Amino acid sequence: MPRLSLPVRESGWRRSVCPYCGVGCGLSVRARDGVVAEVRADRDHPVNAGQLCAKGALLAPAIAAEDRLLYPLVRSRETGGTKRVSWDDAVQRVATGILDAVAEYGPDSVMLYGSGQLMTEDYYLFGKLAKGFIGTNNQDTNSRLCMASAVAAYQLAFGEDAPPTTYADIEQANTFLIVGANMEACHPILFNRIKARKRAGGDRVKVIVVDPRRTKTAEIADIHLAVAPGADVPLLNGLLYEAMLGGWLDGKFIAEHTEGWEQFRSVLPRFQAELVEAATGTPAQQVVDAARMYASNGPALTFWAMGVNQSTSGVDKSLAIINLALATGNIGKPGSGPFSLTGQANAMGGREAGGLATSLPGHRSVADPCHRVEVEAAWGLPPGSISPRRGLTAIEMVEALERGDVRVVWIACTNPLVSLPNSDRVRAALERADLVVVQDAYHPTETTQVADIVLPAAQWSEREGTLTNSERRVCLLERVGDPPGEALPDWQIVCAVAAALGHGEAFDYPSSEEIFDEYRALTRGRDLDITGVTYDLLRRTPGVQWPYPKGAEAGTERLYTDARFPTPSGRAVFNVPQVLAPADEVTAEYPMVLLTGRVKDQWHTRTRTGKVPKLNRADPTPFVEVHPDDARALRVRGGQLVRVTSRRGAAELPVRVTDAIRPGTVFAPFHWGALWGGGSVANSVTSEAFDARSRQPELKFAAVRLEAI
Ligand code: SF4
Repeated sequence: MPRLSLPVRESGWRRSVCPYCGVGCGLSVRARDGVVAEVRADRDHPVNAGQLCAKGALLAPAIAAEDRLLYPLVRSRETGGTKRVSWDDAVQRVATGILDAVAEYGPDSVMLYGSGQLMTEDYYLFGKLAKGFIGTNNQDTNSRLCMASAVAAYQLAFGEDAPPTTYADIEQANTFLIVGANMEACHPILFNRIKARKRAGGDRVKVIVVDPRRTKTAEIADIHLAVAPGADVPLLNGLLYEAMLGGWLDGKFIAEHTEGWEQFRSVLPRFQAELVEAATGTPAQQVVDAARMYASNGPALTFWAMGVNQSTSGVDKSLAIINLALATGNIGKPGSGPFSLTGQANAMGGREAGGLATSLPGHRSVADPCHRVEVEAAWGLPPGSISPRRGLTAIEMVEALERGDVRVVWIACTNPLVSLPNSDRVRAALERADLVVVQDAYHPTETTQVADIVLPAAQWSEREGTLTNSERRVCLLERVGDPPGEALPDWQIVCAVAAALGHGEAFDYPSSEEIFDEYRALTRGRDLDITGVTYDLLRRTPGVQWPYPKGAEAGTERLYTDARFPTPSGRAVFNVPQVLAPADEVTAEYPMVLLTGRVKDQWHTRTRTGKVPKLNRADPTPFVEVHPDDARALRVRGGQLVRVTSRRGAAELPVRVTDAIRPGTVFAPFHWGALWGGGSVANSVTSEAFDARSRQPELKFAAVRLEAI
């Protein structure tokens, strides 16, 4: 087995990046006795300039939690008990399981499911092993739940998955349109920058928030459009129609740099403000006012996140946002652009390194024969080694497990029994697998509890690697401390399994730097070319924004400044977004709509933040937000338990009564799993219906009924 190099023991202050959200705040980190002891905001970092939210500031206790996984474990299916085994034994068992499945059922019987918390080097190696050497494109990630719809929309509109904007646009924007993103809770440092811009800009700076809830983000809005859940496309098209009627579109930009306008324009009269009011519950006058504010007040920057993406029409909603930016010329210029926020620290890196079931490294596609040949050559494989079939995505993995098509599943750095929708179904599906391998830094989690083999992984500060934040900034996370027990960096675990599968030569890396060098060579000539980026450069800088080709002297702050787009025509494309109803039907039996989301001080399934007492103070338990009118009708009060039931399952949650939510709509955070929430998991209730193009599930709309317990 590979081993880490010499222990760190004591370290001076080292540069790092917060491993939680896609903001990517810079950190200074110091270790004592090999363990992270102090974490501070990097005052010189362009992203956060000395600020951190509580999660980032309290990283040290999360890393030192008592339930860190120290040794490989195997579980007996008969007794349910686990026993410690050696790394050699564990790796051999994983390899044998994969080899047996491939021999009996073919390579597509194996599935690798990762996370936006993995480093780019890990993503790259998982993909190399699955797509190049096992022979399956069944590699997906929990980032599928986060930003897949935005990826598909960027590709359709611009020809590539390339977010055009930069955080520095915040200080130059006059109008902020924030759609389906509770930035105060989920991207707090960027939200602080927006607030600072609003303070500095006075009356000139305006904020419009589109959200069914009056979140703390919405509280700073000049206009809060409390749209009905799922009705974003009519609202966004309505804004565009009103902007057109007001004469605020950029006709020159549309004529010279876009295509598809006439076809899109022909549908816009269906979105008169009065019709939009009927479809979305948003007052017509607010629609008119918001359109004027967005389109006539100078540069406008649009942020969006899961409230848009997690939908069966997530791609259409994202396209409607992009159309609005294109029609008003809000792209490629300071202070403007459509800016999708990534949820996780390295969701972007996964997109770049080929971490999705459809992709290969360097924004390549498994469906493109030239791309496959290029990657096969780089990996020393004969032509035809990489399958042309797209692999299974997250929800399709569950369906394939149920059918018996997938027999071995290897999960890394994520806890799908809490985070995937319809979690009871996910549990039953995993129980059907011949072999479940889970690689994690903590045990137990809800998912390690059902694993046959549990592999201990190093945490963010205990290994080296790179990530890319929401503004395309590639950063290096230096190794600061030592992994506990026998934990290893994820990339070393992949290499060990690859060697046991007989591919040791292709996975013989002395360090993560060599993996990065191999990966960056594959970006040459691509839209995200980072051939000029080295670990040495990243050690000397707070990261650089791609593209950064060899010979470049600086990163690329903003894309499309020349209004040239990487489409066949060189023009951006207006796509006509479809108006689709959510998949779950609201009926007399299920008369309300459940939205799920996050709270500020917790991260994902609380495997880290749940161990930090200070982070548990604000929200010590799960809850469901209910409007006072609904609470009266249900005869429930704050703190009382209700059963939230959908067509899939039920969760019992304490009520929070608040008029910040629309009547008929309820909200529950998804963080609490069975280990923490008294057995109730919000995702027992949610829907696994997904967008046909992005395959991102509709976590933002489940028809439910509530009953007092
Ligand atoms: S805003 Fe995000 S990246 Fe910054 S400290 Fe908070 S969780 Fe970490």
